[in-house]
Amino acid sequence: MLQTRNGKRTARAAIKIAVDLADEKMITRDEAIMRVTPEQVDMLLHPQFGGDTKAEATEAGRRLVEKAVNASPGAAVGVAAFDADTAEKWGNEGKDVIMVRPETRPDDVHGMIAARGILTSKGGATSHAAVVARQFGTPAVCGAENLIIDAGNRLFIADVAGKTVEVREGEWLSIDGGTAEVFRGQLETRDPDFEHELELITLLEWADEIRRLGVRTNADYPADAERARRYGAEGIGLCRTEHMFFQEERLPIMQQMITAESRAHRKAALDLLLPMQRGDFEGLFRAMEGCPVIIRLLDPPLHEFLPSQHALVQELADLKVQLQHFRSISEIDSALAQVREKEDILERVESLAESNPMLGLRGDRLGIMMPEITEMQTRAILEAAVAVSKEGLDVKPEIMIPLSSHVNELTVLKKVVDEVAREVFSETGTTVEFLYGTMIELPRAALTADEMAREAEFFSFGTNDLTQTTFGMSRDDAEAKFLINYVKTGVLPTNPFQELDRGGVGKLVEMAVRLGRSTRPGMSCGICGEHGGEPNSIEFCHLVGLDYVSCSPFRVPVARLAAAQAAVNDR
Ligand code: PEP
Ligand code: MG
Repeated sequence: MLQTRNGKRTARAAIKIAVDLADEKMITRDEAIMRVTPEQVDMLLHPQFGGDTKAEATEAGRRLVEKAVNASPGAAVGVAAFDADTAEKWGNEGKDVIMVRPETRPDDVHGMIAARGILTSKGGATSHAAVVARQFGTPAVCGAENLIIDAGNRLFIADVAGKTVEVREGEWLSIDGGTAEVFRGQLETRDPDFEHELELITLLEWADEIRRLGVRTNADYPADAERARRYGAEGIGLCRTEHMFFQEERLPIMQQMITAESRAHRKAALDLLLPMQRGDFEGLFRAMEGCPVIIRLLDPPLHEFLPSQHALVQELADLKVQLQHFRSISEIDSALAQVREKEDILERVESLAESNPMLGLRGDRLGIMMPEITEMQTRAILEAAVAVSKEGLDVKPEIMIPLSSHVNELTVLKKVVDEVAREVFSETGTTVEFLYGTMIELPRAALTADEMAREAEFFSFGTNDLTQTTFGMSRDDAEAKFLINYVKTGVLPTNPFQELDRGGVGKLVEMAVRLGRSTRPGMSCGICGEHGGEPNSIEFCHLVGLDYVSCSPFRVPVARLAAAQAAVNDR
């Protein structure tokens, strides 16, 4: 034999070859599992550009305007929309839209839901845009710093090989969230069809027989939970309840709750939110019948639900200018009422503003300072659990406290949760078993995990925040400012927000599992940070004895394969 080469193959062909060879007993099932890469599985789950012919590739090269952070895989084509409202409006009209923003905030979620793809000029792999996009399975490219976005004039400009390229609202864009490329114009795409990928389904069933790690999903809406279950998820590892407040009809009530002058006013707004949350949870419990569902209580700082300070100041200035031109008393009265209303909101936004919101009044601190929020959410979870169990379905709710750093926080909130549970069970005459646990996402929580486990019945590692706080790097800023350079120049071997840093963050995880189980033997420990869907990090989770990984629905099949590969390597 003079020379050999491996035959080039597409992702689909690689999977078929591996499964056929194992079926023909040419290789073992373990070998088949090791022959397919997680990236190949990922490719079959997202739309791809059809451009594997030379002509299309050249064409694509000509139109490339940027290469940035691959935030959420898949190819998307649509017209550029420069704010969430336009993206939503055009999306509802049936147009394909790419939402383009410097960065996204929670109140952009309605536009993100309607968009085919998301493009931001700031932020990285764990920015808000990236996390939300992955959860919806929406392709996203983030941190495209070469784009200068002028949202006011509804365009961006980019320097492409020394030439200035301008893209205006309504013009076509194509983005590839896997390769992080942004193109002008419309490239051809091919859609995925998991249910018909029979060889992939077979390979993943073999993977399930081998893996030790469970695979759950991060899902906030029943439709996501149903999709994740079809992809093989065995429960929900994280429901970020704040995402449920961003739907159109809920945001104003949430804002009333935040801007309430008294506890009574706040409770009145919470009473309106209660049935909505209960309905969402019922949907999740039905979709995940028989499987555990971890619901995390409200996490982000409250001002994230309010309009931005900058926008309010601008709107007030505009209103005051208009006021000078009004002549009729009724026009002036109504404008003055609007001014007063906006001034009130501005005052509240200013009072809630923090220098370091990520380290401020968020997570369980919010639940302790405003126990009525904890009460409402606990009631919604347990009433939903009771209602669904009365339908004869098996429900397994788990209530999770975010951002705890001291066991006393867990003790305080446990009292609130237990009190509401007693009320709900006595009102409904039905008791449902539930677990009370915490995220481990701050170094102090990991270092004192033996104490935390006195109150917490389970741990879930929030490695996004744990990475941020262990490195002392802002997850919203680091990737855009220096982290990409760090990786390029070898200061860091990989981006720790994408691949778990075994030497630092991993040490804390390993220690916390050991300490937690020393207090509560066999306690369930999982991961719900973005690393839970990343193959190298999944291997680490296997090695330190976590019970499961939890990731966005579209990464569930990848996680099933990666968990099996970790088990084979371990053997
Ligand atoms: C985390 O911090 O890892 C996490 C899952 O929570 P979030 O990303 O919502 O802060
Ligand atoms: Mg977190």
